[in-house]
Amino acid sequence: MLSAKLLKQLRKIVGKEGLLTAPSEVMLYSYDSSLAKGKMPEAVVLPTSTEPVAAVVKLARKYGVPFTPRGAGTNLSGGTVTPYGGIVICLARMDKILEIDVPNSCAVVEPGVVNLELQQALEPLGYEFRPDPASQKASTIGGNVGENAGGPHCLKYGVTTNHVLGLEVVLPDGEIITLGGKAVDPPGYDLMGLLVGSEGTLGIITKITVRISRLPQDVRSLLAVFDELEKAGWACRDIIAAGILPAALEIMDRLMIQAVAQGGYAAYPGDAAAVLIVELDGAEGLDRRLEECVQICRKHGAQEVSTGWTVEERERLWAGRRAAFGAGAKISPAFLVNDGVVPRDKLPEVLRQLEETGRRWGVRIGSLFHAGDGNLHPNIYYAGDDPEERERAHRAAYEVLEICARAGGTISGEHGIGTEKIPGMPLIFSEAELGVMRRIKHIFDPDELCNPGKVLPEKNPPARENER
Ligand SMILES: Cc1cc2nc3c(=O)[nH]c(=O)nc-3n(C[C@H](O)[C@H](O)[C@H](O)COP(=O)(O)OP(=O)(O)OC[C@H]3O[C@@H](n4cnc5c(N)ncnc54)[C@H](O)[C@@H]3O)c2cc1C
Repeated sequence: MLSAKLLKQLRKIVGKEGLLTAPSEVMLYSYDSSLAKGKMPEAVVLPTSTEPVAAVVKLARKYGVPFTPRGAGTNLSGGTVTPYGGIVICLARMDKILEIDVPNSCAVVEPGVVNLELQQALEPLGYEFRPDPASQKASTIGGNVGENAGGPHCLKYGVTTNHVLGLEVVLPDGEIITLGGKAVDPPGYDLMGLLVGSEGTLGIITKITVRISRLPQDVRSLLAVFDELEKAGWACRDIIAAGILPAALEIMDRLMIQAVAQGGYAAYPGDAAAVLIVELDGAEGLDRRLEECVQICRKHGAQEVSTGWTVEERERLWAGRRAAFGAGAKISPAFLVNDGVVPRDKLPEVLRQLEETGRRWGVRIGSLFHAGDGNLHPNIYYAGDDPEERERAHRAAYEVLEICARAGGTISGEHGIGTEKIPGMPLIFSEAELGVMRRIKHIFDPDELCNPGKVLPEKNPPARENER
């Protein structure tokens, strides 16, 4: 429990309206979009600028209280739950777009800016911020940086780290540093690269300079329908092998197609075993490349291949894809979201193994794939009120991670490790490799107060006092 003295000092820093302590209020910050559970946070602060963030961090450190940065809480790995309670530092009120600098192709934003709001501000200028997570209506740029978020269009353009030019960071001791900026290629160690994707464990990001890019001149889309999931995987592999780099290459399996239809998005044929969406963008040669993709899909037995989409039709296609996670609740409100990556050439084989995993554990797996990246989201649906089925769902989820690791892949493509994936870390990292990461964490955060209990298997969980 936080002492009255500490609470008084917090109130002085962020004001009465910036501090939440009532159980009914802090409870709302105790969970995120994963199934992970922690302790209830003892306080939530909502600062509106960098200095109060630094002051809260200094205070937390003085009193030995853990603190957890949070954006919109849409992460899918338990990154913002609070295993040791403490203070949640919610950046949602730092939501200003500070500058859009077209000559330098960048924008400077506060961390609480919602991804879609930035896109909407850039679109009239003919620009976009390329990372487009399906959660873009809610997730913040700070959270995108925290998780190194991806999205359907990251195949061609890269994930968040490829679009971050500079960061202002409050370190776990309260010091404020600036990394990178508008000038490209900063010398020295790539600390910015280290911070992006560090899931709030190395510091709190308070300002971000992002790269902005011209909207594509022209776009072509293709929807191919398959009677077997594996065939969609072969087509995807061969499109890339033919030297074509689509902006997006997404697969959805039967269960997800049905869920999207039940959710009211009738974008795909309801009886298909899989659909493959290909989006090509650029200036020249689009029709030729589109035709090559059509031929590859046909070669792999596509039952139907449609092209020539209007802007509205394409938007409907993507609206269905973006809504797929949420529509999954139509199958079952209880589901485990998975996020693995495999080398692309292993995709067809892995898709077959996933189907076997579902059968072996008697759970329904509905899969969405950023297939061009080999990034799989096999979501496991189960009866939430049946502890035995829940246990089978967890075992199937772990087996999915093992399959990805065995295929030479990894256990997270974009959703991070948080608390949920920690048991899978030894599947892909040796003790020596984990040791290097622990040493890095220790340099930044020797007291282990900055988002503790995340990412790394803890050797000696820190003891926490009852009153501070
Ligand atoms: C329906 C749905 C669809 C999704 N689709 C995608 C997708 O296509 N691609 C994808 O990559 N993800 C996706 N996600 C996951 C999630 O939306 C992303 O990880 C997103 O980037 C999280 O942003 P957030 O603002 O919600 O961050 P939060 O969930 O609040 O935080 C995420 C992590 O970043 C840390 N963090 C947050 N803000 C800061 C900060 N200012 N400084 C330091 N650390 C910080 C937190 O401590 C936490 O570890 C999806 C989630 C949902 C629910």
